[in-house]
Amino acid sequence: MGFDQAKIAIVGGGLGGMSFANAALHVGLTNIDLYEQAAQFTEVGAGVNITRNANRILDAYGLKDSMLWKSSRNPPCYMEYRNYKSGDYLGQIDEFGEPSSRQIHRAHLLDVLKERVPESILQTGKKLRSITYNGSEYQLTFEDNSVATATVIIGCDGIKSVVRQHLGITDSPTYSGQVVYRGYVQYEDLSAEAAAIFRRTVVYRGHRKHILTLPIGNDESKTARIGVIAFMTESLDQWKSESWMATAPIDDLHEHVKDWAGPIQELIEGLRKSSPDGKMLKQALYVRSPVETWFHVEETNPSHGIVLLGDSVHSTLPHQGQGTCMAIESGITLSTILRMWKAGDDLRPAFQLYQDIRKPRTNKVTRTSYEAGKLASADLPDGFTENFRPDLLKERMKWIMEADILEEVYRKGAPYFGLHAAHVTGATEAGPVQANL
Ligand SMILES: Cc1cc2nc3c(=O)[nH]c(=O)nc-3n(C[C@H](O)[C@H](O)[C@H](O)COP(=O)(O)OP(=O)(O)OC[C@H]3O[C@@H](n4cnc5c(N)ncnc54)[C@H](O)[C@@H]3O)c2cc1C
Repeated sequence: MGFDQAKIAIVGGGLGGMSFANAALHVGLTNIDLYEQAAQFTEVGAGVNITRNANRILDAYGLKDSMLWKSSRNPPCYMEYRNYKSGDYLGQIDEFGEPSSRQIHRAHLLDVLKERVPESILQTGKKLRSITYNGSEYQLTFEDNSVATATVIIGCDGIKSVVRQHLGITDSPTYSGQVVYRGYVQYEDLSAEAAAIFRRTVVYRGHRKHILTLPIGNDESKTARIGVIAFMTESLDQWKSESWMATAPIDDLHEHVKDWAGPIQELIEGLRKSSPDGKMLKQALYVRSPVETWFHVEETNPSHGIVLLGDSVHSTLPHQGQGTCMAIESGITLSTILRMWKAGDDLRPAFQLYQDIRKPRTNKVTRTSYEAGKLASADLPDGFTENFRPDLLKERMKWIMEADILEEVYRKGAPYFGLHAAHVTGATEAGPVQANL
């Protein structure tokens, strides 16, 4: 017995839900449906950085070519640091090895993740209102009053998750102290000197503020532009929107960085040229503390349960570019466990294994991302501290990038999957060990 026949409902079709759908299909879980509240699948923002640890998983799904068609290619370094005022080069973190990081427009990443998912399992306009259990299955009721059923629910509905409430989690998110302004700039709107700088992933490191730029896309597919992600310390008193996400005048960002270096002034002008209404996206950044339990299993029928994935359970500040990457990692971990489980029909040990593999890593990423934010938006941006030595920062992040998640899943799960150690070797390159299924 295993869970390969379980009727799985994925709630949320963002980067996390779509990553899980890919993982599930890749390992051979076929009885799945995905419910997304929006009328269509869409992502807004200013691009994401998908790093080596996650790219090797996407490559195992066969998505490498699609990614590289729309993402940056062979970036010269992982991250370059510059002084906010003088613009002086402070140092860089080199790439971590193949596959290198890929910077891509969020909507393009979603398209790539959607590519192999059959339309027939994707349902839009389905905003989950409640979940009830009737003794033999879950009933998911949506705002349009329609009802769907499932035996396993994967909550991929983001940091404000409705599904997590069904696990009895009642914590409130905390404001991080920073907002983030996001937008795009076209290379042709900059001088040749500034355009050359922004062909790299760059951080302009200021006083409790920093601007990160991503060189997303590439010239061949005409997707090349600069994603601007500006982290600014602001009091929430100035926040006028009910939602965490709003738009704000580009002038508001300019006010923060008026005395910054020339290339940043060019970026501001570039943002204005790309935005006919003079506005850009503004988001208040919230954090949640890690939760103790990621799942719930029905006492009366332990083959039925609810489990969380993505920002619904391991949201993080974005300072190491790992939110989506962790969702991709969690997707392959959970789906592999569900597919390979041979030890009966009790979901508890399966979900526990998923949590045991993932939680130490996601907790550590969350903690170190907070610290990374402090280093980038520095109290003393003009000086190097013991922690802020760009040449040493690579060491700090190596453990994130070098992880081989599939190898870890097979190694730690081997006793439960009925595998011998010999089958575990080479799991990453081969993808799931299909021969053993
Ligand atoms: C400024 C910034 C920069 C970032 N940069 C990076 C980066 O470079 N690299 C990286 O890896 N990560 C990055 N992240 C993190 C990344 O954006 C998130 O971790 C990722 O989007 C989480 O995906 P998710 O699907 O779990 O949640 P979400 O993106 O929040 O998606 C949740 C989905 O569920 C749907 N939904 C919500 N409620 C319901 C409901 N009741 N019923 C049905 N559907 C529902 C939503 O419409 C949405 O589609 C960044 C984040 C921020 C804020």
